[in-house]
Amino acid sequence: MAVLCENVEQFSAGVNGAFDYVICGGGTAGLVVAARLTEDPDVTVGVLEAGQNRMDDPLVNTPAAAMQMLSHPDYDWMVESIPQKGNLNRTHAVPRGRMLGGSSAQNWTLYTRGSDSDFDNWAALVGDRSWSADNFRAYFLKHQTLEPIGTSISEEDKEFMPFQREFHGKEGPIHTSFDNWHLPFGTEFLRAYHNTARREVMPLDPWSGDHLGFYSTLATVNSSTGTRSYAASAYLQPNLDRPNLKVLTKATVSKIILDQKGGTSTARAVEFLHGSKQHVVQANKEVILSCGVVQSPQSLELSGIGDSNVLRQADVSCLVNLPAVGENLQDHPGTVISWTLSPNTKTMDQLADPAALVAAQEEYMSAHSGILTSVTSSMGFLPSRELVSETELQHTIDIIRSLPNKTPFQAQQREQIINLLRSPKHASVHFVMCPATLNLSEEAVKDQKMSSVLRIRVSNSVGRGSVHIQSADPLVQPTYDQAFFENEADVAVATAGLRFLDRVANGELKDKIKARIYPPPEVNLHDDKQANDYIHSLCISEYHPVGTCAMSQVVDGRLRVKGVSGLRVVDASVFPNHVSGNPMSAVYALAEKASDMIKEDSKVN
Ligand SMILES: Cc1cc2nc3c(=O)[nH]c(=O)nc-3n(C[C@H](O)[C@H](O)[C@H](O)COP(=O)(O)OP(=O)(O)OC[C@H]3O[C@@H](n4cnc5c(N)ncnc54)[C@H](O)[C@@H]3O)c2cc1C
Repeated sequence: MAVLCENVEQFSAGVNGAFDYVICGGGTAGLVVAARLTEDPDVTVGVLEAGQNRMDDPLVNTPAAAMQMLSHPDYDWMVESIPQKGNLNRTHAVPRGRMLGGSSAQNWTLYTRGSDSDFDNWAALVGDRSWSADNFRAYFLKHQTLEPIGTSISEEDKEFMPFQREFHGKEGPIHTSFDNWHLPFGTEFLRAYHNTARREVMPLDPWSGDHLGFYSTLATVNSSTGTRSYAASAYLQPNLDRPNLKVLTKATVSKIILDQKGGTSTARAVEFLHGSKQHVVQANKEVILSCGVVQSPQSLELSGIGDSNVLRQADVSCLVNLPAVGENLQDHPGTVISWTLSPNTKTMDQLADPAALVAAQEEYMSAHSGILTSVTSSMGFLPSRELVSETELQHTIDIIRSLPNKTPFQAQQREQIINLLRSPKHASVHFVMCPATLNLSEEAVKDQKMSSVLRIRVSNSVGRGSVHIQSADPLVQPTYDQAFFENEADVAVATAGLRFLDRVANGELKDKIKARIYPPPEVNLHDDKQANDYIHSLCISEYHPVGTCAMSQVVDGRLRVKGVSGLRVVDASVFPNHVSGNPMSAVYALAEKASDMIKEDSKVN
């Protein structure tokens, strides 16, 4: 029996149209669960994935090619936000991977982990200590293999690659490595931030639960091949010979079919579209929804699970009234600061020169090395309170306290944000170096007017958006509102980050930097109004949405949908709160933990 099925007949053959578990969405989390559940040869799993198999695709496998998948319909769901009030009513592209591996096939591969305080806050919100940092940590090690540091890396560069073996996995499916290829000025920039922030010591290990400071991060790149390590290559490819696992691509889930008897709702089957036809597959034990932050709430609502008012407007009958579905959308709202660099300082912009690109491709093909294996790995985190005065901090807290709370959950989240802003240990502001520019004009490249962009992200924003269906048609995109910078508390945190980077540029990096491009040089960042206006005019996402089927609100601590039996959600949508840093590692860890919970519950039942 083929694992990767080409048609519905192959998918259903041998299982009589019913699997023990049907997983909707073969993305980052979905493929972890599929792999772990089918370790037991007596358990059958069917995965329905809307996208295609792209395991041999160079755009997926080459780390530096990720940008080319953005807004490309073969790879990306091409979701678009509604006009953002906090950003001059502009709309934003919201990329989401549409292929086996989901967004792990499309992302930038930066591998970070949240702070301990992030997961301790999860445990408090959910009322379940198993999500606390100490208890959850084992699942980060379980999914990861830390590869040895490259022999070509200089001692100077190694100084900014701190790690302790005990915080890393040795035999997990996802391979992580430090960039083998470094921009010559990367370490110099990191040192300048480190010195300006007056950090006395380097982080011990940024994956230990404390990632304050500046460092080169790991990437989910297999260093021996220079290729992306992601859910499909790591969790599916090695298991393609399992007879108890089947995956159907180009299969779009349209709804979960609920059996309603005696006042209880049970998920029994999944309806999906393949080609132009509608099909149904039965689940003997459970349906697992892993369609991601946009489509998991969409699928629940299409199935009649959600806020009755939202469902009525979309012409869907409400079977389970669960008003929190699609709410609590959080991202890492951010802004940028960028400069042209002094002549002959090379950045990734060099790839805009056709000859340099050809040389890079040749090196990549022949030796699996060079600039194309590289991601933008220099980054850092600082506590917000180190960047602002006591009066400024109190002002931000007062803004948060003045907000009306819609629910006790929201009140608790806001108290947590206040505590994180006050904490000298929490990574409230995230800085990411992107050594490239949008100015790729021939002239700019020829003159070596290369640029570097630094992105500033708010780790735990106050803003909360939503995702809701607007139609009963599964092919109509839901309304996506990320509520970027609608709250001035988030603007204040980002402003502090901008000012810090400007200070470094005018201080230790003065000789390296030629001119500021963004914010335009005439913007005075020390003037509150000018800084705020700039942030409202240029805000970006790092494409880290989470939280739309939040634990404790939509699902319980074991990820079971409230009010429905036999249905779980396992993906980034169940994060109750955002984490500081890029979320992929937490998604892998969550899916590993979910797999154990599903196995345990199956024994009990
Ligand atoms: C461009 C980009 C860059 C990023 N960079 C980073 C980074 O560097 N580091 C980091 O840590 N994080 C990064 N992220 C975020 C990270 O990749 C995601 O948080 C994570 O992969 C989400 O996993 P998931 O399982 O929740 O969803 P996904 O991985 O998106 O999986 C959802 C799957 O469900 C499928 N699906 C959806 N709807 C249906 C349907 N109706 N029927 C069938 N299948 C369906 C999708 O096609 C997809 O395969 C980035 C994300 C993007 C998009």
